[in-house]
Amino acid sequence: MRKKIVAGNWKMNTTVPEGVALAKEVVGEAASLSSEVKLIVGTPFTHLASVADVLAGSQVALSAQNCADEAKGAYTGEVSAKMLASLPVEYVILGHSERREYYGETNEKLVKKINLALAENIAPIYCVGEKLEEREAGKHFEVVAAQIKEVLFGLTEEQMKNIVIAYEPVWAIGTGKTATSEQAQEIHAYIRSVLAEKFGALAEEISILYGGSCKPSNAKELFAQKDIDGGLIGGASLVAADFIAIAKSF
Ligand code: PEP
Repeated sequence: MRKKIVAGNWKMNTTVPEGVALAKEVVGEAASLSSEVKLIVGTPFTHLASVADVLAGSQVALSAQNCADEAKGAYTGEVSAKMLASLPVEYVILGHSERREYYGETNEKLVKKINLALAENIAPIYCVGEKLEEREAGKHFEVVAAQIKEVLFGLTEEQMKNIVIAYEPVWAIGTGKTATSEQAQEIHAYIRSVLAEKFGALAEEISILYGGSCKPSNAKELFAQKDIDGGLIGGASLVAADFIAIAKSF
């Protein structure tokens, strides 16, 4: 059985006190949630230590939103996977389209980040997804296949077991436009078939999350799809009640 996961990506939102308050609300609301669903909050770096204290002993896991592509040294402003691992950080979001687009994150850099995170026992939530013009040109399968092959096909099966994939069509992120459940299922099944080319039966074990304007009103239909194992949630993860309502949509 694949893990059901709902992960929040707070992006660059909330001050530390606001983030702590939000985490407290999430923990409070999560008490009524089935233990079958893995709940994760992805906070800014500055919030990790304080939010970790709030999450301690709860069923909510902590994620970072990025890590450096080098292990250590003279990289001013960067945060290494090892630094994250010195806190109770279990996951790291890598390859988010905002980082690919605004910070020049290439597949090559992502291979390094994923290997560094895995070496520290931090599970990458690896994001893939096509831009609007790529979908309109019918290139979405090709784009997503390249993001999977170029970044994940060099991993061993043992490493791959710790990867979570998030399919996030760029045109649906923060736009209020959601992929239809049919569009999402189609590409999730395709991603699984690409994974199977390299990893065989293990592809059936890998959780593939949908991200892109997922909210309480559409989560149920998306999560009912055979190959959709949960969601990566941006905007709606900033409201604890909405985030938990999404997690209750399985
Ligand atoms: C995201 O950025 O990962 C995301 C899915 O954002 P939103 O839910 O706001 O579209």
